[in-house]
Amino acid sequence: MRKPIIAGNWKMYKTFDEAAEFVESVCEQIPSEEKVDAVICAPALYLPTLIDIADETDLAIGAQNMHYENEGAFTGEISASQLSSINVDYVIIGHSERREYFNETDEAVNKKVRAALDNGIVPIICCGETLEERESNQTEQKVSNQIKAALNGFTSEEVEHMVIAYEPIWAIGTGKTATADDANQVCGAIRHVVGELFGNECAEKIRIQYGGSVKPDNISELLSKEHIDGALVGGASLQVESFLTLVQKATEK
Ligand code: 13P
Repeated sequence: MRKPIIAGNWKMYKTFDEAAEFVESVCEQIPSEEKVDAVICAPALYLPTLIDIADETDLAIGAQNMHYENEGAFTGEISASQLSSINVDYVIIGHSERREYFNETDEAVNKKVRAALDNGIVPIICCGETLEERESNQTEQKVSNQIKAALNGFTSEEVEHMVIAYEPIWAIGTGKTATADDANQVCGAIRHVVGELFGNECAEKIRIQYGGSVKPDNISELLSKEHIDGALVGGASLQVESFLTLVQKATEK
């Protein structure tokens, strides 16, 4: 049995006060981490405060990006060892917005995953196709290439603790969701690729999320599918009520 995982990706939203208030209020009501892993991936400058507020609660705090070097002359960047030094639990790697707007390559994603693991941070590795790729039946090829590149050089013991997020780019922030069956099919294809590379035991253990316009009214159907172990959520993670509803519904998987 894989434990469901709901991660909110706040992107570049919320002021400091709004972020702190949100986490205070969510921590009071969050379901037990025995049933579901709940994560908020916040803007980097809020992380120390949010980690303090969420300390010894069932909410985990994650980052949205990091650099793959541990230290160096990289103005404006933050490393995995720096995130680890303030006890960050998770980091989103290779989000389509980073690939598109910040030229993040498969090679950089692979190096970032290595650095995250070496520093004890769980990577949430993103993959997903454009609308054009979906319409020309290239979805599984695209996603499987991204996953093979991201996981290059790891052992099955390392891979089984990672999280993969399948986020079709055309479904992000558009209100269009992949049907639960389509999302399940692609998540199943990802699990198959992991199985081919790292064995069935690893494929059965790794958690795969769906992301793209996940809301309180569509999450249950998505999570009812065999290969969907949780969700990576943008817009609907910004309100306390809707985030808590998503986490609550995930306990029913
Ligand atoms: P939305 O839930 O707003 O579509 O965003 C999805 C996403 O990009 C999460 O990483």
